[in-house]
Amino acid sequence: MPLSPAVVKELQEILGSDGLILTFEGRLTYECDMHTFYKAAPDAVALPTRAEQVDAIVRCCRRERIPIVPRGSGTGLIGGVTAPTGGVMVSMTRMNAVLELDLPNRTATVQPGLINLWLTNAVRERGWFFAPDPSSQMVSSIGGNVSTNAGGPHCLKYGITTNHVLGLEIVTGAGERVRLGGKVVDRPGYDLTGAAVGSEGTFGLVVAVTVRLLHLPESVKTALASFPSVVEASECVSAIIAAGIVPAALEMLDEAMVKAINAGIGAGYPENAGAVLLIELDGPRAEVETQAERAAAICREGGALSVAVARDEAERALLWKGRKEAAGAIGRLTASYLLQDAVVPRSKLPQIMREILEIGRSHGLLIANVFHAGDGNLHPVICYDDRKPEELARAQHANEELLSACIALGGSVTGEHGMGVDKAKNLPLQYADADLNFMYRLRRVFDPDGLMNPTKLLPSHPACGEGFRPGRPVLPEGAWV
Ligand SMILES: Cc1cc2nc3c(=O)[nH]c(=O)nc-3n(C[C@H](O)[C@H](O)[C@H](O)COP(=O)(O)OP(=O)(O)OC[C@H]3O[C@@H](n4cnc5c(N)ncnc54)[C@H](O)[C@@H]3O)c2cc1C
Repeated sequence: MPLSPAVVKELQEILGSDGLILTFEGRLTYECDMHTFYKAAPDAVALPTRAEQVDAIVRCCRRERIPIVPRGSGTGLIGGVTAPTGGVMVSMTRMNAVLELDLPNRTATVQPGLINLWLTNAVRERGWFFAPDPSSQMVSSIGGNVSTNAGGPHCLKYGITTNHVLGLEIVTGAGERVRLGGKVVDRPGYDLTGAAVGSEGTFGLVVAVTVRLLHLPESVKTALASFPSVVEASECVSAIIAAGIVPAALEMLDEAMVKAINAGIGAGYPENAGAVLLIELDGPRAEVETQAERAAAICREGGALSVAVARDEAERALLWKGRKEAAGAIGRLTASYLLQDAVVPRSKLPQIMREILEIGRSHGLLIANVFHAGDGNLHPVICYDDRKPEELARAQHANEELLSACIALGGSVTGEHGMGVDKAKNLPLQYADADLNFMYRLRRVFDPDGLMNPTKLLPSHPACGEGFRPGRPVLPEGAWV
């Protein structure tokens, strides 16, 4: 439903002449995130530069019962920033300042649109870094990372985004700007910061984030071990951790991904292997040296075909370049793909890898793998040809089977990307109605009118929970929440 002229005028007054996108072509740019299955353009895109403008946008939308869709950089992989019920998308790209660097307290406070890597770039020379590093860190925003509780290669050792967020400022769906948490650890009262991290814009708009900064490690060592198959490589992952070594990162790529990456950027990964493990250790020099030798020995004992340690920064950067550009290399394998994001307990990796191979075989589809093996966080890439509808149907079946297999092994429906519209329907696989109802009620505390990022995170089917009570319709006819 288009916005009324009065609402457009009010939003233009709040945002200034270049702060509101209304053209069809302009809005189309914002119709989806990186999961391009789900497309729905908003009625308008707001580009605020200050928290006060966000307050005013929410006040206006709430009064008029207009849905609000928060957006960071749009790199999400779950359909989290589509607007199926229309409304105003609030894009945070212009709120990208570092508000405060407080090194004595090891914190930084930033606006939500700041690109993840820019924060480390701002403090690296002084010996600090921001640890959560999704592979999209060159483009994804800290607000998006907070809202999806992003993981990343180095989260094995350092923890995921929630472990690094100390405080948040949020404009809730109720129109209040609230401060949750702060610089001091162990604040009294409920841990509302923890509840808000990963809430995917359903509580409100994050307008400031206080994060923990860490010291750069004294030494870093990166090695690449190749294995006959993903199964041996998976067994080694558990063996390394069971030996008391917690690598900074432990990433796996299978044969198909290795070939695609080598062809794409000449990473020089061994091509005769069924899988490679990228192992990074960091910390005090002496500890890193000892642990690197031990990890290499475990790989050899586990059947590794080769173990190569990067000799200098250039070799190390090349090893990582292959991993970081894996998403782009998928284009060499297939025109279309479904990317699954699920997690299993680390010790179940060998079993789930066998099951993935079997699911691919039974559906006649290539399933390539590139993933955060140390966390048991899988990213099977199900390849199909979108010109053949029956192949898409097979890919979708394979996708659902894969997810069920992960749950059956004690895993979870999402590893790190979140729920969005894509996974919301899968939540009942993991939670009982009572659990889901509790989540609906919590959501309503922050967003009493159901305006914030409708259709995302929680399922809409009545059997799955109370949902948004009838009698309080705030969304257009037929809309689902
Ligand atoms: C190549 C590639 C690699 C990736 N690697 C990883 C990885 O290693 N680990 C990982 O976890 N993810 C990864 N992702 C997924 C994605 O980058 C992350 O989910 C990231 O955190 C999204 O950030 P964004 O700024 O793009 O947010 P968006 O996609 O714009 O939004 C994501 C969600 O957050 C909400 N949101 C955004 N900003 C705000 C705000 N200020 N206030 C309230 N809600 C907000 C949106 O409504 C949406 O629900 C990858 C994606 C790509 C394309």
